Amino acid sequence: RQALEHLVQDGGVSAQHRSFLRLVKPLAVVEDNVFLAVAEDFTKNYIESTLRGGVTEALSQVIGRDIRIAVTVDASVVPPEVVVPEPADDADASAARKAPSAPTPISRTVEPVPDPHLNPRYTFDTFVIGSSNRFAHAAALAVAESPGKTYNPLFIYGGSGLGKTHLLHAIGHYTRQIKPQTRVRYVNSEEFTNDFINSIRDDRSLSFKRTYREVDVLLIDDIQFLQGKEQTLEEFFHTFNALHNAGKHVVITSDVSPRHLDGIEERMRTRFEWGLMTDVQPPDLETRIAILRKKAQADDVAAPGDVLEYIASNITSNIRELEGALIRVTAFAALNKQNVDLSLAQVVLKDLISDNDSEITASSIIGTTADYFGITMDELTGTSRSRVFVTARQIAMYLCRELTDLSLPKIGEHFGGKDHTTVMYSVKKVEDQIAQRRQMYNQVNEIHARVKQQSRG
Ligand code: ADP
Ligand code: MG
Repeated sequence: RQALEHLVQDGGVSAQHRSFLRLVKPLAVVEDNVFLAVAEDFTKNYIESTLRGGVTEALSQVIGRDIRIAVTVDASVVPPEVVVPEPADDADASAARKAPSAPTPISRTVEPVPDPHLNPRYTFDTFVIGSSNRFAHAAALAVAESPGKTYNPLFIYGGSGLGKTHLLHAIGHYTRQIKPQTRVRYVNSEEFTNDFINSIRDDRSLSFKRTYREVDVLLIDDIQFLQGKEQTLEEFFHTFNALHNAGKHVVITSDVSPRHLDGIEERMRTRFEWGLMTDVQPPDLETRIAILRKKAQADDVAAPGDVLEYIASNITSNIRELEGALIRVTAFAALNKQNVDLSLAQVVLKDLISDNDSEITASSIIGTTADYFGITMDELTGTSRSRVFVTARQIAMYLCRELTDLSLPKIGEHFGGKDHTTVMYSVKKVEDQIAQRRQMYNQVNEIHARVKQQSRG
């Protein structure tokens, strides 16, 4: 935006060029691409034929590297004279609301786009590319750039914690950055199942269909959970066909390839193979270090190279665990006002890193946590808002997320059928608090150690 402004104001361009540049809305910078949107074909053509060189150069200078521009036509782009206010952060929004004297902007009516249900942290920008995921990333990016065109459906499969969900959300974000009016819907297949069942119960099949069929991009996560659920599968099959026939995009993830999806009919599995299938593999050491570095940067914590290398060499198969280890080390250092160094990391991760083959289950975590707090498992998984129950519940949810392969909705089920957003909130809450409150850190650590100990027998 700055660069464009600069061009318009004193970039030495003619008045006519200037008036064209005013019609451009900068959308996003992704890697070396700058995406611009204009409302009409004519404007796009003019910019591409006449202004491309100047704009590219000016933007490259401001951004500090060579970029390419891509201009898309989006009828909803409103020229600056009639600016629609940007969706602002809460604080800004309420400030804006409190300013009664501000003139009401004239706006074209823009169809509201339904909530895509995306996690803001999972974007292409925060995704580290390595040989283990290069192909999946490229396919995801291609789909995000022009949904409905090639690779439909895109099927991404691979083990737990290897970035499938991250890529799925990234597709959603990127598609909407380029073209904000795109209707995107992310759904975990367990949520899809529940939604479907409830829609039958409540006689809402029409609204169910609207939710999943009136979209441009459907992102469906962990399709393996539909195995053996005949009616839901049937419904999904119809949803898939309706979308595919209408040229809408479907992206699917699974922990196994379509071929290995037992309990799903052949006709459906073949359909999954129509488009493009790609797997994600466990990252190599270099990629693991790069992921940690990026995470440290994003969280703004200082962690020297040898610490990152130590963590990356010892936690090899699951990126969620990798990130968990980094959080643990930096939280410990912050609480004790120490610097993050190798010996500190070794002490903190002693329990995490020791090899551990046996399975840790949600019930073992819930049982151990309840024991620790001296409450019953029913109390822990119930709905009481008393402080100790809430704390125990949140810690147990956090540990389920960290120590098991369960998805958020599945974790919710273990806690008396709580919503996946509740689980997500709890996980985030504990994650934030272990770095701020020593008591929280100690409790989580102690319970974590006990759970691991018990699983070793
Ligand atoms: P999956 O869905 O395959 O089980 P997720 O997408 O949930 O895995 O990834 C687990 C965690 O690891 C998430 O926090 C995610 O952001 C992170 N992650 C996975 N792959 C990458 C990557 N290539 N770069 C950065 N972070 C990653
Ligand atoms: Mg996932």
